[in-house]
Parts: sequence; C-alpha cells; structure tokens
Amino acid sequence: MDCARRFKLRYLDRLSYPAAETEPTLENEKHQQEGEYFHRLIQQHLVGIPAEQIAKFANTPNLQKWWENFQNFVDLTGFRAVVPAQTEEGRKLSGLYPEATLSAPLGKHRLLAKYDLIVVQDGKVIIYDWKTYRKRPRNEWLAARMQTRVYRALLVQAGTHLNGGKLFEPEQIEMIYWFADFPEDPARFPYNSAQFQRDWDTLLKLSDEVASASSYPLTEDLQKCLFCTYRSYCERGIRAGDMEQAEAEREAEELFDVNFEQIGEIAF
Ligand code: SF4
Repeated sequence: MDCARRFKLRYLDRLSYPAAETEPTLENEKHQQEGEYFHRLIQQHLVGIPAEQIAKFANTPNLQKWWENFQNFVDLTGFRAVVPAQTEEGRKLSGLYPEATLSAPLGKHRLLAKYDLIVVQDGKVIIYDWKTYRKRPRNEWLAARMQTRVYRALLVQAGTHLNGGKLFEPEQIEMIYWFADFPEDPARFPYNSAQFQRDWDTLLKLSDEVASASSYPLTEDLQKCLFCTYRSYCERGIRAGDMEQAEAEREAEELFDVNFEQIGEIAF
C-alpha cells in the first residue's frame, strides 16, 4: 500500500535491512526490543504465569510502567477473573485466545495473521492488539490502516473454530488497540457487514495485483522514504529520519513488520 518497490525488496527479494530506519539507532532498537519483550510478558501471563512472577521480569523503567498499566487495564476489562488461565481448556472456557494465528484462502494466496489476543465473551468477539508506540496515532489513521482492516476481516473468514463452528457476524467484532504508554486512551473499532465486504474486496484486489505485478515503481511520496530501510537502494537519502521528529503514524508504520520466521512455522 505504501510503496511497491519496498514490497518487492522486503517480501519478494527478502533483502536484509541495509540502513537504520531512524536515528538514534540504538535507542530505537532498544525501544523495539522492549516492545517485543513486553508482548512476551503479556503472553506468558495470559497462559498462566502469575502477575507477581512476571513483574520480576519487567526490569526496565519502560517495562515496569507498561506492566503496571497493563495490570490496571486487565482490571478494567473484566477479564481479571480468568487471567491467568493455567490450561488451554481453562482459556477456551473463558474465551481467551492469546497469540492466535488465523489464516484463510485469499484468491490464489493464503492470508495469515497473528493476533495478540482474541476474547470471545457474551456473544461479542474482541481483538486486542498491544502497542508500545511513543506517540498515540490518530484514530482516523488507525481506522484506515491495513492491520485494522485485515484482522477484523480475517476473523470473519477464519474464526469458525472459535465460535462453535459458525462464522462470526461482522457486527459481533471489535478491534481494540491498547497503548502501553497511553493506557486510558485505547482505540476501538467496531465492525459491520458493509465494512467487511469492502475490506475483503480490497484484499482480493490487492492479492491479484501482487500476483500479476510485473513492475515495482518507487513511491512518489518522498515522505515514505524518510524512515525506510531501503533508502540506499533507491538513492533516496542516507541519513535516517529522526524519531523525535517522527509523527506518531510514521513510527507506527515502520515498526510494523512481518516476521518470516513465524510464518515459516505455519502449515499451509
Ligand atoms: S526508499 Fe522510498 S522508494 Fe525506496 S523502497 Fe523505501 S519507500 Fe520505496
């Protein structure tokens, strides 16, 4: 969606990153690692490790703050009563599905997504996605983002095993981005049938475009290049953008990536 050339370099050529995305590199890398570690702590908690134990691993100022915020958030959501659920059976009974991977055919391809947490309770199904951004992106931007569209649409297409063998109605679905640094201000996105139709049509069209593409032009929007790792391939600048200056959306865009190692584990 952002740049056909970046898609080719990253997903078809699988080139490693020749340029740092932002300055200062080390600080950004540390933040990214803390974000990944924080996801792991939540996942461990949701599969049965008590909060007191997890708290010991939250051993940097950011992790401590995020973990505390997460605990308060769990209290607010009402799933405190079932967290941590020690067994898979226990989690199913409570409708909690941490780190769920769903996939469905999409044209000639297969669409796959890994969810931080899906909660099926009282006829509703909520997708939770944890974010450790330093700035809170705008809701309008998040609404239009592919992740928001893909995660909800795919849950309709591939969530039957979470719903007693029936398809979820789009109207049952809501996606919530919870921001570890802005715990009081989650972004909520309900869903409906018209949105689902629109999203799935878009995804089908995109998958056709990807399948039949023969050229991968550089984006005309030079802003997209500022934080792109492939700047040197495209002769679009050497120095990375400064994260302090980055808009919230730009940071969010660049930190979102696909881990091919994880995808490799999925049997098609
Ligand atoms: S540097 Fe710009 S043109 Fe090149 S891949 Fe990145 S976004 Fe696309």
